[in-house]
Formats: sequence, C-alpha cells, structure tokens
Amino acid sequence: FEGMTTVELAKRTGQSVITLQEFLVNLGEKVVSEFDPLKIDVAELVVMEVGANVRRQHSNEGSEILPRPVVVTVMGHVDHGKTSLLDALRQTSVAAKEAGGITQHLGAFVVSMPSGASITFLDTPGHAAFSAMRARGAAVTDLVVLVVAADDGVMPQTLEAISHAKSANVPIVVAINKCDKPSANPERVKLQLASEGFLLEEMGGDIQVVEVSAVTKTGLDNLEEAILLQAEMMELKARVDGHAQAYVVEAKLDKGRGPLATAIVKAGTLVCGQHVVVGSEWGRIRAIRDMSGKLTERARPAMPVVIEGLKGLPMAGDDVTVVETEERARMLSAGRRRKYEKDRLRQIMEERTETNKPSE
Ligand code: GDP
Ligand code: MG
Repeated sequence: FEGMTTVELAKRTGQSVITLQEFLVNLGEKVVSEFDPLKIDVAELVVMEVGANVRRQHSNEGSEILPRPVVVTVMGHVDHGKTSLLDALRQTSVAAKEAGGITQHLGAFVVSMPSGASITFLDTPGHAAFSAMRARGAAVTDLVVLVVAADDGVMPQTLEAISHAKSANVPIVVAINKCDKPSANPERVKLQLASEGFLLEEMGGDIQVVEVSAVTKTGLDNLEEAILLQAEMMELKARVDGHAQAYVVEAKLDKGRGPLATAIVKAGTLVCGQHVVVGSEWGRIRAIRDMSGKLTERARPAMPVVIEGLKGLPMAGDDVTVVETEERARMLSAGRRRKYEKDRLRQIMEERTETNKPSE
C-alpha cells in the first residue's frame, strides 16, 4: 500500500472514504486530505480493520533493481540424506570455515563460490517448513533440491516434495544421494523419475540431475554448479533500496541476547536501528549479524541475517515490516494480535459448527 491515498485505499477495499477517515481519526492520525499518501503501516492497519484482503504491495518504481543470489530449500524422503547433505554443503561455506567448523543451525547459510556467486540454503529440511512458510505467504524459496537416495529410489515423500514444488511453481534440481553405497543404483532412480513425468536433462528435458554423496562429499561442487546454472536461467533480481520486505526463517530464544530471528530479505535493505513489526511481535533492531556471526549494518536481498532486538519470539514465515516509530510498531503489533485472535476464534467456531452438523 506504499504511497496509497485514502481514495485509492477506499477503491481497493470497497469501503467508503468516510469510513476509512473515521478509522484514521481513531488511530490518532491527522487526516489532511484523502489525496495525501498514507504511511504503509497505517494503511495496513486500516485494511486489517476493515477486513479487506488486499495484499501488501511494494512499488518498484524508481528503484534500483539488481541481480540477487538464489535461495534454495532441500526436500526429499525421510532418511534420504537431507540433513547430511546440508551439513556437507555447509562445510563448503565460508561461514562454517570462519566459525572454526562449528556448525550452527540458525535456519540458513550461504555458500560462496570461487566465481563470486553465492547460494543461500535454507537449513530447514522437509516439506513442513516449506509448506508452513508458503501457507503464510512467505515464498522465499527460488529453487528446490530434491534429494533421492540412490539405493532406495523414489518414495512417497519424494512424490510429495515434487508436488509441493510444482504447486509453488518452483524449479527442481535432483540430487541423487548415497552414490557411495554399493547398492546404489542412480540409473534406476532416473527411470523412476522419468516415469513420474520428470523430463531429465540427459533424456532431452531440462531438469538437471546430479549424483552426490553426503558422506564422501563427492559431487557437491557439481550440485552447486547445477544450482547456479538453474538460477542464472531464472534471472533473479530484487529491489535493493528502500524499506526491506523480509521473512523469518527461524527464531529462537537466546539466554543472553533475547529473541533471535533469522530472516531473509526479499527486497529492499534492512538497516540496524529500524523499528520493525515481525508477525505480531515488534521491536527495534539492535544488531544484525551475518550467518558467520559478524556484525553488519544492513542486510540486502537473499542475504540471511540474524536480527536482535525483538520483544518476543516470532514464527517461521512471519514477515518483517519496517515502520517509522516505536509507537507505530506497538500499534501494528497490537492490531495484528487482535486480528490473529479473531481469526483463531472464528476458526474454532467454524470447526465446532462442522462437528455439530447432524450426520446422515
Ligand atoms: P534425512 O532424514 O533426509 O535428513 O536423512 P539424514 O541426513 O538424517 O540421513 C539418514 C541416514 O543416511 C544417516 O544414517 C546418514 O548417515 C545416511 N546418509 C546420508 N547421506 C548419505 C550418503 O551420501 N551415503 C551414505 N552411505 N549414507 C548417507
Ligand atoms: Mg533430517
């Protein structure tokens, strides 16, 4: 709603200008003219309150749009080696080397390639995280690495992962894992995938397949190359200047530092000191660290960072919204809490009505 006027907002929400202005007055906002642009957080509160379902939109007008790194999620059947593969990949990252081999699980890590390109891996294997984030509107993943064990082949959760990626319209790179095993049969996996309608590259399609082993760490560079190739074709870009649009990947409570949220910026730049609302939590960003723990002033698109300074613990998939003042942050957070509570109650009521329906 950035820069929207009350008139435009009225059109979008189907409410009268008078109704919206009354609400603005209740918020303590000065209403000068219905043609004045509204602050984005105020507009959001108004929309929330009138119950309209208008998606937050950031205008890219007059902004610098630059290429950005690719964000990858690893999916696959249980025990096919997602965690092992992520661990192996993490060890190829600069951050892991700088942290002296300590593998911190903070929800994301970055692998920097000799070419200067980098890959951001979400360290949250499994469809649960992917689905939860997507359900909350956080489409942070550009690409799915589908892990299939070479000895086990295509299994139910492999198919589930494929259908998740397909419905999210996210391209897949296949990693056939455990190729070190004597019982490995990568060719069989390829045939299975082909019979699922997968058009593999070596069969004339465009889905790349890489044979790897998370244990012997072979094929990892090929996998990284395949990811970069796929990313190149997607021509990923993002607005760099202006307020950040970011999403929480993971959050945890640290004894000394309080709530820590790992976030990935989708667009814009997150700057230390900004007031933010994260889901229904709020706070002022006290510190931003990169995934190696180094302090930084700002976070740019596709760069995972850990932010400190929130008052409470947000959830994976929560959006990070920058607001002008602490007062606004409190206000928007309170507004969202009311809305979430209302939604929750409504859901409970609906479920009750469902179960109370007379069965035939
Ligand atoms: P996840 O459930 O998909 O996360 O699978 P894990 O990473 O936990 O791996 C399941 C089991 O497979 C573990 O015992 C791993 O040691 C083993 N494993 C994972 N990758 C490989 C591999 O490349 N080769 C072999 N031989 N074993 C592997
Ligand atoms: Mg695992």
